[in-house]
Amino acid sequence: MYNCPHCQKATISMFSKFFTGPAITNKCSNCHEGWSTSWISMLWLLLLLISNYLTNDLSLIMSGAFVCIMGIVFFTPIKKR
Ligand SMILES: [Zn+2]
Repeated sequence: MYNCPHCQKATISMFSKFFTGPAITNKCSNCHEGWSTSWISMLWLLLLLISNYLTNDLSLIMSGAFVCIMGIVFFTPIKKR
């Protein structure tokens, strides 16, 4: 779980973080303030698209997907909305 940027309570699950892009605003279940992920998450998705585009090698595509998921879940900051 991740801490809400407003109330610092661990209300954000890994799942909802992954499916929240910078264009989507989620609500904290504790303080009802909005949050979303940084636009950096788009960079990780782009990485996945590029690896998909450059190769048909399944293992390369899978590692691209792995890096993309890890990047969004662990290296993308949660921002206030
Ligand atoms: Zn909160």
